[in-house]
Amino acid sequence: MPTNILITGGSRGIGRATAILAGTRGWNVGINYVQDKNAATETEAAVKAAGGEAITLQGDMAQEADILRVFDSFETTFGPITGVVVNAGVTAPSMPLADMTLERMKKVFDINVLGAYLCAREAARRLPKSPGTEKERSIVLVSSAAARLGSPNEFVDYAGSKGAIDTLTIGLSKELGPKGVRVNGVRPGIIKTDIHLSAGDPERAERLGKIVPLGRAGEAEEVAEAIVWLLSPAAGYVTGTTIDVTGGR
Ligand code: NAP
Repeated sequence: MPTNILITGGSRGIGRATAILAGTRGWNVGINYVQDKNAATETEAAVKAAGGEAITLQGDMAQEADILRVFDSFETTFGPITGVVVNAGVTAPSMPLADMTLERMKKVFDINVLGAYLCAREAARRLPKSPGTEKERSIVLVSSAAARLGSPNEFVDYAGSKGAIDTLTIGLSKELGPKGVRVNGVRPGIIKTDIHLSAGDPERAERLGKIVPLGRAGEAEEVAEAIVWLLSPAAGYVTGTTIDVTGGR
């Protein structure tokens, strides 16, 4: 049975690094993206250069119809999915809750919570039917250290959205364990990706990296290592847990 991994938000940042690391293992990788086709195509080439197979899959992971289409397209190309990384997510500009609009909070919760739950639901429907073994069938949910820290005066909405992911990891692991599917989470800390620029604060990782116990921001590749390990049979007895990749923060 080949290892068939779908990564939501696989075109850039942590998803991209995970896709390339999966490629070094010779896995088949589905690279979902929402708008940056060039980045997705570039990541596809990098996965193939690393030794894997890859396809790009456009779709908004906050829209149910897009999610179903992306999962179907992946399985049409590669066959049954053995692993899903629920990674697509957004932050928003820093401000206290008192200043946040409904529109901003809806966007964060639509993608980070509802979209992630719908992606996890699709994985929950499909992975138990996969011919892979329980060591191979795995879901990894990308949370954030924000879920523990609360992110006051930055984005308590985002922090709460990731708290929901931590809770989903616990509950879904108990639902799917008896069906031979492992469910785990990864909580990145401050990682050098475009997400900070997208939220209007491109210097955030460099600035806040200094207050991390290890004294620096993390690299996307360092988070990818934890995700790929959780996807792999090496983590065959690990389920219902969340790994912090935060430099000690
Ligand atoms: P990033 O560099 O901004 O990349 C975001 C990725 O998600 C891109 O591939 C983007 O696609 C995709 N995406 C965004 N919205 C989407 C949607 N509605 N549907 C499908 N794809 C969508 O982000 P990142 O830093 O790698 O973050 C990845 C995950 O790690 C997120 O869940 C984030 O909350 C979490 N995280 C990040 C950090 C950090 O410091 N970087 C810390 C803790 C947790 P396009 O290329 O098409 O835009």
